[in-house]
Amino acid sequence: MAVILDGKKMAQTVKQRLQQMIKQQGFTPKLGIILVGDDAASLIYVKNKQKAASEVGIETQLYHFDDQASSETLENLIQTLNADSDVHGILIQLPLPKSFNAAKILSEIDPQKDVDGFHPYNIGLLQYGAQTGLQPATPKGIMKLIKSTGLDLSGKNALVIGRSNIVGKPMAMMLLGADCTVTMAHSKTTDLKALCQNADIIVSATGCAKLIKQDWVKSGAVVIDVGMNRDEQGKLCGVVDFEGVCQKAGFITPVPGGVGPMTIAMLLDNVVEAYLKQHQI
Ligand code: NAP
Repeated sequence: MAVILDGKKMAQTVKQRLQQMIKQQGFTPKLGIILVGDDAASLIYVKNKQKAASEVGIETQLYHFDDQASSETLENLIQTLNADSDVHGILIQLPLPKSFNAAKILSEIDPQKDVDGFHPYNIGLLQYGAQTGLQPATPKGIMKLIKSTGLDLSGKNALVIGRSNIVGKPMAMMLLGADCTVTMAHSKTTDLKALCQNADIIVSATGCAKLIKQDWVKSGAVVIDVGMNRDEQGKLCGVVDFEGVCQKAGFITPVPGGVGPMTIAMLLDNVVEAYLKQHQI
């Protein structure tokens, strides 16, 4: 049976560390959150982020617009928040409605306040292998989960399934930075099963419920499940067929309680990191 990588517990440890640091040093980081439209999942994600931030002592301010808001309105707000020295992080809840050019709007954020790590400048730093930029929360949290296995990552075959800008691509860069031999797969990949069978580490970030089966996985592999899907019964599940794969993998993340809590914890970590850098601490 695989060792369960408990993201909920690890996230709690991260949050306690942040809470203590904020309390002991007596500062209040502030995060501006921009939400456009009434997408039900986005409303829940924003609420969860605000709750977690408040628990560690990070102040949040939500700017909620209807989906008729103009790009200029958003860009003007971002400029105001960029210039406000009391605001240390800016987050745009994605996805934005289709009428917006998300890449252009994200690039308006001051890279030092880009706590999602999606600004081209921060993406560039990650590409260069520099540790100085703010890094996207989901892959950053996954790296902590993978490192918690204690395995030597150098030379390991890592397979990243999914090539999104927010998970797949930065994940591949981080694994490459840890000296893994990285393969990226996507919907046009042929014979995903064979690639999985050759992987020491699998990070699966697609929207396909229970795609990865027990016989796809190498014995002892590290299997990280980024998915947030629903099974036939409507129960939350991942990309990995957990019951089967946990019999064969060496380490596995559950859904829920794996990557999700670490994503929020790393967002908070980025807000504190942004504060410290802006104050040259
Ligand atoms: P995305 O932008 O929708 O990208 C999905 C990726 O999966 C695409 O690259 C797609 O390939 C690939 N894909 C789809 N079907 C595939 C298949 N059958 N075989 C191989 N690859 C396939 O998704 P995302 O934003 O990266 O998110 C991925 C999943 O993770 C979603 O379920 C999302 O809800 C979840 N998520 C969870 C967290 C968390 O904190 N737990 C955070 C972020 C995302 P193409 O590029 O060819 O279309």
